[in-house]
Amino acid sequence: MTTPSLDALQWIDTLVGIDTVSRNSNLGLIETVRDHLRRLGFECWLTFDRRATKANLFCSIPDRNGGSAGGVVLSGHTDVVPVEGQDWDTDPFAATVQHERIYGRGSADMKGFIGTVLGRVPVLAQMKLAAPVHIALSFDEEIGCLGAPLMIDALAQRGIRPVGCIVGEPTNMDVVVAHKGFSAYQCSLRGQAAHSSIPAAGVNAIEFAARLIDHVRGVADDMRVNGPLDGDFDVPYSTVQTSSVRGGGVINTVPEFCELEFVIRHLPQVEVDGIFERIRLHAHQRLLGEMLQATAEAGPAISFESTFRVPGLEANEDAPFTRLVRRLSGDHTVRKVAYGTEAGLFQRAGIPTIVCGPGDIRQAHRKNEYITLAQIRQCEVFLETLTQNLTFA
Ligand SMILES: [Zn+2]
Repeated sequence: MTTPSLDALQWIDTLVGIDTVSRNSNLGLIETVRDHLRRLGFECWLTFDRRATKANLFCSIPDRNGGSAGGVVLSGHTDVVPVEGQDWDTDPFAATVQHERIYGRGSADMKGFIGTVLGRVPVLAQMKLAAPVHIALSFDEEIGCLGAPLMIDALAQRGIRPVGCIVGEPTNMDVVVAHKGFSAYQCSLRGQAAHSSIPAAGVNAIEFAARLIDHVRGVADDMRVNGPLDGDFDVPYSTVQTSSVRGGGVINTVPEFCELEFVIRHLPQVEVDGIFERIRLHAHQRLLGEMLQATAEAGPAISFESTFRVPGLEANEDAPFTRLVRRLSGDHTVRKVAYGTEAGLFQRAGIPTIVCGPGDIRQAHRKNEYITLAQIRQCEVFLETLTQNLTFA
């Protein structure tokens, strides 16, 4: 049977219908889910952002003895990317079923997965589970995984130690065991303004920024040539590149300011701080020294700010949870992907984690995003098998 349950379809319809673009509050969605789970008799707790306009939700469906220790986390992010500038054929905030597909923003990334999980809760409640099942919904994944760390910290504080976690990002239900980490930095260079007829009286911030950009490229070339390498990734080395530059603007003045951003996508076994330090040290030891020597004034400075940080994932293949998922899914291929997810955060907290969810990442973030009904059904079957086999805990 390839038709998903009505419960899953109704939940996907409800979730897609709530506009949770990252810049907006997600409380409408979170409260809808919380109220539903409470009506079914399950306690939920929320963790909020600083302004209390967004929340994560965590809910435990206890085992047959009423216990919540151990168990498996099913995790998804509630936010979606914007639709501006995309010429949709349907209303992006209404789930539209056509040609065996559900169209709508977030249908693949990742309200299809969340809806499938929520649709199964009444079944789980009747199942006499051997181990608890936890539902973890986060906010602001798309703008830097800002929500999940709060929830993961709270898990530790509450002494909840799940034995495994599935992040249901779209993988076509394949088991993904690794992804790269992703970090972004902003760098501000302040030189010294002067009349452009006497460049030596100033410190040209753009020229020093250019030298830093060249150094970033050198670090990138070094990692490409000298590794470390992991051939299971399509780009088998860590990368770094400059992504934006702003500075200057007045032709008769030596530019005093320049700002640039660079992004690092690193193999999970490579520490991002080491790559960043190669860039920071060059800036502070080499370039800033020259900038300070070039003027008697105390103006020159270089500062860095970390703007985005998502750790990589490298699953533990020996963990009983990973072995269980491999056995149940029948997928023994080692799959490593370039895109980041919250999986690395759970893994870092000591919870064995893999990525496995319905839909195709190639449909995500685009106009006419969709998920097939067959993928939803495949996810339901997988969750059914998984929850029937939680005997390792
Ligand atoms: Zn996603």
